[in-house]
Amino acid sequence: MPLRSLAAVAFGVLWVGALAQKAAGEVKVASFSTVLSEVAEKVGGKDVTVTSLIKPGQDPHEYQLTPGDLTAATNANLVLLSGKGMENTYLVNLRDALPKKVVVLAVGNQLPGLTKPADKSAEEAAEDPHWWNSVPEVEKATVVVRDALIRLDPQRSSDYQSNAGAYLADLKELNAWVKRKVAELPRDQRKLVTSHDAFQYFAKEYGFQIDSIEGLTTEQEPSVSHISALIDEIKKQQVKAIFLENTLNPKVSTEITRESGAKIGGTLYADGLGPGDGATYDGMIRHNVTEIVDALK
Ligand SMILES: [Zn+2]
Repeated sequence: MPLRSLAAVAFGVLWVGALAQKAAGEVKVASFSTVLSEVAEKVGGKDVTVTSLIKPGQDPHEYQLTPGDLTAATNANLVLLSGKGMENTYLVNLRDALPKKVVVLAVGNQLPGLTKPADKSAEEAAEDPHWWNSVPEVEKATVVVRDALIRLDPQRSSDYQSNAGAYLADLKELNAWVKRKVAELPRDQRKLVTSHDAFQYFAKEYGFQIDSIEGLTTEQEPSVSHISALIDEIKKQQVKAIFLENTLNPKVSTEITRESGAKIGGTLYADGLGPGDGATYDGMIRHNVTEIVDALK
């Protein structure tokens, strides 16, 4: 083949390739949060491709950055993080490895936060990353993601606005449902004991007292003294049920029920989407709230 036709073919391939890419969606999102993957899919609609690097049912506290996930993040226009310390073990490596053109957005860092004060175990005061367990925080996160997509792709601004509007309306309805369901439970029975400390934002929004076996992450084993203090507290407060989590071992919780007289109330999705009911954010919240309210009533 003469050189000129070869160049024409090459040009054609490039041109068709560019068209195909445009048709498949110009904006690529890589998400390190299952909840933010859903938000990006809802707001982005058909024009945005979302790759979930943390999968439903995976414990985000234990996640380790893999070469394949780094490649996916490198090829994205926008990388979404939960923020508020959730990615601390790999954030520096991730930022160092990503090209400058990739926008890294720690969504939680744009939301008002709760911290956990330093306690006797000499833990430093730490920011609490579990904002998604309060529906109004996810509404705020939706606005943050919408605005980021509009900055990246202003031509589709009106699509992103209307997609976000529809999703926000769903979230408002969900939040109204949560409030109605929680109202079935008298205030003095709103005592929530979970496997790790993932429900501070939930507790603040819906009026619960909380306690937990493990701290803000799932990486540290609880001390014997903490467990025995927790058992005393469960007895004193007459807490009816304690809750398991879909990604954590139920062994310690089961021992606590044996010693405290509380029952197991069910299994919660504490750290984002999961299998079964937890496949969508709406399903995850309705599952958690139903389990909590029905077990504590
Ligand atoms: Zn957690």
